[in-house]
Amino acid sequence: MTGSARPPTTATNDSTDPAGSVTMASTGFPELDALLPRLAAVPALEAAALEAEQVAVLGRKSGLLTAALKSLSSLPVDERKRFGAAVNQLKGQFEAAFAARAEALEAERRRREAAGLDLTMPGRRRWVGAEHPVTRVVDEIVGIFRELGFAVATGPEVETEWYNFLALNFPADHPAMDMHDTLYLDTPPAEGEPGGRLLLRTHTSPVQIRTLLAGPPPVRVVIPGMVYRNDAIDASHLPAFSQIEGLAVDEGISFVDLKATLTHFARRFFSPATRSRFRPSFFPFTEPSAEMDVECQLCHGRGCPACKGTGWMEILGCGMVHPAVLENCKLDSERYTGWAFGMGPHRIALLRYGVPDIRLLLGGDMRFLEQVGRPGGTDTGGVDA
Ligand SMILES: [Zn+2]
Repeated sequence: MTGSARPPTTATNDSTDPAGSVTMASTGFPELDALLPRLAAVPALEAAALEAEQVAVLGRKSGLLTAALKSLSSLPVDERKRFGAAVNQLKGQFEAAFAARAEALEAERRRREAAGLDLTMPGRRRWVGAEHPVTRVVDEIVGIFRELGFAVATGPEVETEWYNFLALNFPADHPAMDMHDTLYLDTPPAEGEPGGRLLLRTHTSPVQIRTLLAGPPPVRVVIPGMVYRNDAIDASHLPAFSQIEGLAVDEGISFVDLKATLTHFARRFFSPATRSRFRPSFFPFTEPSAEMDVECQLCHGRGCPACKGTGWMEILGCGMVHPAVLENCKLDSERYTGWAFGMGPHRIALLRYGVPDIRLLLGGDMRFLEQVGRPGGTDTGGVDA
């Protein structure tokens, strides 16, 4: 017996298990006493562990107590008797403990079954959230302009006609002011607010007016926010969507600043090789005005259904701030000049993630959001031709 040189251990945690009435006293044999902590642990075992422990201790082939009994023949006769008795006693204690635990587990199972609980059912996996693709696009655009020294400005979503249209050089009979295009409120404007009826802003441009009225140039701001139009929902239109615009006003600002800044933006946002172009356009609040296209991100200029075969996709409108807008904000248009742009993050998100229908961005369809919601999902941006 290899362990007989050590003094017999005394089980100090003698205890009585209420379920099995197992008394843990030293057996007088260290190799048997080594099993006592495992005997004490039996009442806490779950079903699978209980079964494994039964095999480990009592198993016919390699159970620890089975092996101890097999070693009997190698012992002197007088010790054989004492050791055999100790092994059998311990075996009886283990058997009682295993039986008591099995019974307790079965009783617990029946109790849960009666209560309608089935703990063997697989759990519901927790959903991991992610930024909405439009939010990510807005944050990214803001981040690029922040690097260029632009601050973020915000303003109210309910505006007066003056801030939304007239101060921005819309003539009073402009079709955009028609009920067909704009959502007006029944509520009268607050005392002292300049100009006409209340409406849900149709663009973020009134924040340009509020920013220019708040303090003298230099002004460099980007303005993200929701805007509202009386549009029916279809694959490319929403009545409520996000817009982000930028405004730079200072002395000596020219169209070169506009082109250089927006070209830099397109290369930072899409890819360093992205080509862009400016086409003449018209907006009441800028002169001259332009629309900016970037190389189609799906076909890289070769032409595909998404870009209607042109190889280009329009991303924003821009132009030099109209002198009348500066004068409406009490700024000397001979001294100050500026440029502005506006774009729709919903549309940019469609471009960037190759999404064919703008309604998918609002649908809350988990299959869609799981694809585009994680970085690198179906991201087609940043891939050079
Ligand atoms: Zn294309």
